[in-house]
Amino acid sequence: MPHVAFVPFTGLRVGTAEMLAFGMSLPGLRDRGEALRELPALGLLTLAGMLNEEWSCSYHPSASTSSLTDDVLKTKPDLVAVSALTASIDEAYRFCDELRTAGIATVLGGLHATVLPEEALHHADAVCVGDGESVWLEILTDALSKSLKPYYKATRSFDLAASPLPRFNLLPTRGVPRWTIQTQRGCPWACEFCGASRLLGPARFKPVDRIDRELTTLRTIDATPWIELADDNTLAGREDWSDLLQMIEQHSIRYFTESDWRIGENAAVVKALAKSGCVQVLVGIESLAFQYSGMGKKDTQWKRIMHAVDVIQDHGIVVNGCFIVGADGETDESIDRLSTFIAESNLAEVQITVQTPFPGTALYRRLQKQQRILDRSWSHYNLFDIVYQPDILSVDALESGLRRVLSDTFGPTENRKRKRRRLHVWRRHPMLRKGLR
Ligand code: SF4
Repeated sequence: MPHVAFVPFTGLRVGTAEMLAFGMSLPGLRDRGEALRELPALGLLTLAGMLNEEWSCSYHPSASTSSLTDDVLKTKPDLVAVSALTASIDEAYRFCDELRTAGIATVLGGLHATVLPEEALHHADAVCVGDGESVWLEILTDALSKSLKPYYKATRSFDLAASPLPRFNLLPTRGVPRWTIQTQRGCPWACEFCGASRLLGPARFKPVDRIDRELTTLRTIDATPWIELADDNTLAGREDWSDLLQMIEQHSIRYFTESDWRIGENAAVVKALAKSGCVQVLVGIESLAFQYSGMGKKDTQWKRIMHAVDVIQDHGIVVNGCFIVGADGETDESIDRLSTFIAESNLAEVQITVQTPFPGTALYRRLQKQQRILDRSWSHYNLFDIVYQPDILSVDALESGLRRVLSDTFGPTENRKRKRRRLHVWRRHPMLRKGLR
């Protein structure tokens, strides 16, 4: 029986050892880093769901073992399917190189390989460009006949109505902190820095019955799953939000997602979201210094955003406000203003990263045109290392500003304050009134 091994390279990476030591000493960042590292790679589990009985398969989360290559080789694979983001692509390349030396065929996919397929082909036998589901069966057929082509390009966006059921049972039944499912792919907005919203095509929605099938399957494995929706912007542009949220409510799950702060301006949506089990929503507030192009109606005045945050939290859903440091116009003063803004806000969770021009984004193209890209070591494209020339500050000044706002925001006192706030918010949640610690 032919065998395919699936290997994701995921999680938070910090290239500069000093920044790693600093950032990871901050509990808020460390917790999020661990959560990201442990998130199942839904894309590969979905491809596993397309295999027929002719194939056996195995799943190897790259972070879980130091003997990854040996573990994969032990399965005697006919094909190894690898996915990686920009920050982890160098690790994925090294892994593919090792397998190539051992004579094992590899196919590499994901956002980075989609944007830079020629670069990826230096390391893998084949590169998947775009939605993997569209070309996966062809890749398998060619792998079996040892006639892999260099590129497999999805010629059109995959229709999520045909979504295969992800093979959740490849994951261990114990110790999965969060499962992932996807309700939509892409985003109607096109924020200049966003590396996810458009690279795989326009925004598409998975039909409610398909999501229902996934949740039903998941609950046969884990009766009380804690789920992270692997969406770019849940509910944005979706017309059947009421059907979707009512269906999710039937499953009595708890989940975390990412959405647009504007959901807070529709009380019916927020109420239904809380009833459906959403306990935390990450919203991109972005920069106090600069309004990125492409943000559409998401771009507006702070007071209006913070009012929406209050409405969402009043319904028992913790808001994780995301901010970017280092946009054009950033100064020492604006960074300190951000620290004050966050400290005075009611946000119960916060995420701060430095502006990162991921390849394939409009931001990368603009900074490249302006000759401001300083560093093309992909492992530094990790949301904490500075890889471009800021327009006003020096790189060193921006880095020390980033440290300042991180330590102001994630110090023990601020963390304790936000933890208390989270518990306070969740006490209002219709499904979470007991058992909070
Ligand atoms: S709203 Fe979020 S997902 Fe959509 S384009 Fe902007 S950053 Fe990307």
